[in-house]
Amino acid sequence: MYGMRTFLPFCFLAAVSLTAQTNRGDLGFTDTPMLPGQPWHVHDSNRPHPPIVTPGKTPGAPPSDAIVLFDGKDLSKWAQRGRGDDRGKLIDAKWTVRDGYFETGSGTGEMFSREKFGDIQLHIEWAAPPVVKGTSQGRGNSGVLIMGQYEIQVLDMYQNQTYADGGAGAIYGQWPPLATAPRPPGEWQTFDIVFEAPKFEGTKLVKPAYQTVFWNGVMVHNHKEVIGAMVYRKVGVYTAHEPELPLGLQDHGNPVRYRNIWVRRLKGYDQK
Ligand code: MG
Repeated sequence: MYGMRTFLPFCFLAAVSLTAQTNRGDLGFTDTPMLPGQPWHVHDSNRPHPPIVTPGKTPGAPPSDAIVLFDGKDLSKWAQRGRGDDRGKLIDAKWTVRDGYFETGSGTGEMFSREKFGDIQLHIEWAAPPVVKGTSQGRGNSGVLIMGQYEIQVLDMYQNQTYADGGAGAIYGQWPPLATAPRPPGEWQTFDIVFEAPKFEGTKLVKPAYQTVFWNGVMVHNHKEVIGAMVYRKVGVYTAHEPELPLGLQDHGNPVRYRNIWVRRLKGYDQK
């Protein structure tokens, strides 16, 4: 047990030892070998430092540099395509918000973020309908449509079977997830996605998109090359598009729930 008498000298010694470490050169060196292919010495004291990001208070909460797209309150960051008289327009998202989440399946169609994104880290939480209905692709189907077209499938996979490249966590129609890691219907699940946007020069693809995905903390894609845009029963192809596009969420008529959605733009986070 620490009394004040023992605690204070301990603090003093800790401060002295920190100063001593700094003086020993712990903030870097310039007399060390060069790193291969890099303009920096090993432990280079002149190398730019990474930005400081304050992590969220709890696991899964948005860090300080995140753009929060849904915090449980409203859909002001989202829109959907109009129908009828509003055809061709983006209108306010109509999905219902309650108890800190919103739910697909009301038949109003896909929802899109008002903001456009290219390379991102995305955190999104979803829950399959608590009342189990349907089988295979008919059971809790939705999807995260990055750039509105590169889908990570959302599907109730708890004791449910479907074609391998159509299960939850799949790059739909292209690559099955490396593992199926579902939680039961009604329980919250997480996707953590790192998406590298494709690059085009004119109409020509010069770099494909890549997906890295964790489902409930389990890696299901590791920097996987995307074949093209999501399509059903066909091979996806790339069609040149803008460097940034809205994030989409699919509405397949099933009541899939979403909450806690945030993204970090990765531009500027290249290692220097
Ligand atoms: Mg889907």
